Amino acid sequence: MFDLHGRVAVVTGGNGGIGLGMASGLAQAGARVVVAARNREKSDAAVRALHALGSDALALGVDVTDARAVQAMFDEAAQRCGRIDILVNNAGINIRKPAHELALHEWQQVIDTNLTSAFVCAQAAYPHLKRSGGGKIINIGSMLSIFGASFAPAYGASKGGIVQLTKSLAVGWAADNIQVNAVLPGWVDTELTQRARQEVPGLNERVLAGSPAGRWGRADDFAGVAVFLAGPASDFVTGVAIPVDGGYSTQI
Ligand code: NDP
Repeated sequence: MFDLHGRVAVVTGGNGGIGLGMASGLAQAGARVVVAARNREKSDAAVRALHALGSDALALGVDVTDARAVQAMFDEAAQRCGRIDILVNNAGINIRKPAHELALHEWQQVIDTNLTSAFVCAQAAYPHLKRSGGGKIINIGSMLSIFGASFAPAYGASKGGIVQLTKSLAVGWAADNIQVNAVLPGWVDTELTQRARQEVPGLNERVLAGSPAGRWGRADDFAGVAVFLAGPASDFVTGVAIPVDGGYSTQI
């Protein structure tokens, strides 16, 4: 049920944080992981870590906001690995400003990176997944897929959109044996949130107070859900958004 030997997984933003946590789970379950991100040094380090877990991993440089580069990356991944079975749409950024201060180009940058990229990557992956006889897409949402935050209008819109995109892809591609689901991480200690803790006063205290688990998430908290959603165990699960948040979204 959880065996991914022979499967190839493309993980956008797989060179750090939650993406690397998920990539590590997939690698331990036997998948060959393609780390798709921009920072070559970080990607090479991630590939070394994945090799140590037994995956014949490789890194391909890509900016997910560049549709042509995305297409070329999938073509190269398929050519070098022979197939593609799993896509994790994880690359993401935030620009923390209230709506009245967020410039249009900043809105666009966040939407392009977090939401449009998931559509573009899914579309580029589709023929490869079909050729494999089916596949799995895991989209990364957020607590801001559910809640609002004064400092994240574009980010919240992008992450709300991820949940609805997930449902449309799930319905549209179910007949192709492609399951599409979303993961909604709670507050996780990564480079993204290290910056948020500096920029948003009181965030650390609010997160700890609001989390039944009483701690920030760690990247490796995402290994298990990635394996579940990437493997045969979830073959009848599609179109859902699973919070992985230590109970954060459950508590009033
Ligand atoms: P990190 O900043 O650690 O990782 C972000 C990743 O995205 C990096 O690997 C980065 O690689 C990649 N990336 C960003 N922009 C691009 C781009 N244009 N093209 C290709 N890759 C890109 O953050 P997290 O691990 O925290 O975030 C991962 C995902 O999880 C994001 O979608 C985020 O919104 C989501 N999330 C995070 C939460 C948290 O608490 N940390 C909570 C909820 C959701 P590179 O710079 O090399 O391109």
